[in-house]
Amino acid sequence: MTFKVPFVNYSLQYKNLEKEIDSAIKDVLSRGDLILREDVERFEKGLASFLGAKYAVGVNSGTDALIFSLKAAGVGPGDEVITVSHTFAASITCVFHVGATPVLIEVKEDFTMDPKEVEKAVTSKTKAILPVHYNGRTCDMEKIMDIAKKHNLAVIEDSAQSLGAKFNNKNAGTFGSASCYSFYPAKILGSAGDAGAVITDDENIAQKIRLYRNHCQRKNAEGKVEFLCFGETSRLHNLQAAILNVKLKYVSSWIERRRGIAKIYQNRLASVKGIKLPPAPDSDSKYFDVFQNYVLQAEKRDELSSFLKENGVETLIKDPIANHLQPAFNLSHFKLSFSEKLADKVISLPMYPELNNEQVEYAAQKVCDFYKQ
Ligand SMILES: *Cc1c(COP(=O)(O)O)cnc(C)c1O
Repeated sequence: MTFKVPFVNYSLQYKNLEKEIDSAIKDVLSRGDLILREDVERFEKGLASFLGAKYAVGVNSGTDALIFSLKAAGVGPGDEVITVSHTFAASITCVFHVGATPVLIEVKEDFTMDPKEVEKAVTSKTKAILPVHYNGRTCDMEKIMDIAKKHNLAVIEDSAQSLGAKFNNKNAGTFGSASCYSFYPAKILGSAGDAGAVITDDENIAQKIRLYRNHCQRKNAEGKVEFLCFGETSRLHNLQAAILNVKLKYVSSWIERRRGIAKIYQNRLASVKGIKLPPAPDSDSKYFDVFQNYVLQAEKRDELSSFLKENGVETLIKDPIANHLQPAFNLSHFKLSFSEKLADKVISLPMYPELNNEQVEYAAQKVCDFYKQ
């Protein structure tokens, strides 16, 4: 089915940058530079400088970025990590991957970690807090960092959805000891496949992540390769880095466009009964939101989704089962009624910079039409 307003349009972004991307790919392949070469290093420097962080280390996904950051912070069996249920599963499964125990808490109305709940969840076993900057909005990092300091906890930020988002003028990802980004195609900065990165100001952590992503190989004093720990094959591919280098230049303008689209949705939908909108851009001076997603809480959500589909507007219902109720995770002892309600209510409208105003207006109009029925 072809949609008048598709939920993503990767080929259009490629078409807009075709010459630059083609030439970057050709350049890398002609040089034969495939693994950990200058394109990766250039991307790491570019990303760190974009975010105002000291180091960036490219890895093969946001999920590995999270797993490696927890490992680098010394999180392991017997430790508890506080995070939210209302997130992409990777924010929770990464905790299992290092053998630790996730402790899940509620989000606020803006879909980000509720600091009041963090304080209540701290125990003698808590080792880290993993705030998720969800849908393009940061958590309240002032309150969360205060709690972390008070209890001497590591903070690993999941910034996979919030490249360029700011709290008090500081970038998502520059508060904690390490922060994780994803360059999955649908993210604000998307690779042509999977890619991720860890951001940190701590040289020691950066060093550890560089080891983990490459089987912990290092040359010893005699020039012989030593394996310092059990590592993985999780490098950011040079070819992906070359594509990301082309796209990184456009991220700021793409964010502006996303905010522009959010303003149109806000203007068109503010008075519609039956839906709750995300916070409007600039509605709170502490937050600079980048609208990775535009997520409504909608009455009759599934009917709305079908109606929009019939009318050529593709939507996404993310996480229709709350993570703490996912059978495989064994976390149903957490009672999180708001997160459960959100699983039944959230729906994402199309949101990416290549949408034209006519498409956005059309999608908004169809939402209005549905609730007028
Ligand atoms: C996308 C995403 C991840 C995982 O990133 P991948 O690159 O897909 O592994 C983690 N957390 C959140 C909140 C995400 O949206």
